[in-house]
Amino acid sequence: MTLFRLEGKRALVTGGSRGIGLAAAHDLMRLGAQVTLAARGADALKTAANAIGARWVVADVSTPEGIQTALAAAGQVDILVSNAGGPPPALPSAVTEEAWLAGLNTTFLSTVRLAAAVLPGMRERRWGRIIAITSLTVGRPALNLPVSNAMRAAVTNHLKTLALEVAADGVTCNTVAPGYTATDRLRALHADPADAEKLTAKIPARRFGEPGEVGAAVAFLATREAAYITGQEILVDGGWSI
Ligand code: NAD
Repeated sequence: MTLFRLEGKRALVTGGSRGIGLAAAHDLMRLGAQVTLAARGADALKTAANAIGARWVVADVSTPEGIQTALAAAGQVDILVSNAGGPPPALPSAVTEEAWLAGLNTTFLSTVRLAAAVLPGMRERRWGRIIAITSLTVGRPALNLPVSNAMRAAVTNHLKTLALEVAADGVTCNTVAPGYTATDRLRALHADPADAEKLTAKIPARRFGEPGEVGAAVAFLATREAAYITGQEILVDGGWSI
């Protein structure tokens, strides 16, 4: 039997128009899955989807309506990759009520809602993969990312809890926690080259990760071969967390 194939499986990748989401979608497609990308901006989404041969839908996962739109376009979902843009940086004392609520909806409740919607079908078919993109900040909170630190930890524990409930039904629930990965998000957070250099000096691999290196971990978790890996947090961080 050929290893790591996903023919006949359908995936929904949210936050899929660029960066880690797009890289994960590309790898899922290379393994044979049919993929629908969801994100907010039609232009970037269309370009990204055409580049890899995916389907696409404009949907904002921070609202229940946006989630319904994404799910309606995707149809049956065998593989859910729950991902979206990260909360903006701020010192913990400066986070507003509005920013907490935005983070709650975009980073935490998006995963809760998407997973709740796809799980009944996965359990019935006795096959499913729920994978959320979190962050290295779950284990090591970053001072300037308080909303991300809190919401990613919540996503991590929620998927561990779900894993307990559905493990016997052939459904796995895991998180992939990227370290510093060279995407638009990272470039925005570390625009100063001197700052970027200081940071890479602290990473054992001495470089930022590539989006495809995170995407490959997501794709592996989606395979049949990863069926016994559930409730786990897979760090893809060049050794940062050691
Ligand atoms: P990115 O900002 O480059 O891409 C985010 C994607 O999500 C885009 O496609 C964007 O259009 C989409 N998106 C944003 N808000 C959305 C919403 N409400 N509904 C639907 N789509 C939405 O980010 P990235 O660097 O690829 O990172 C992906 C995730 O991983 C982010 O949550 C980020 O915080 C996290 N992360 C990134 C790094 C890194 O170094 N790049 C490190 C740790 C964690």
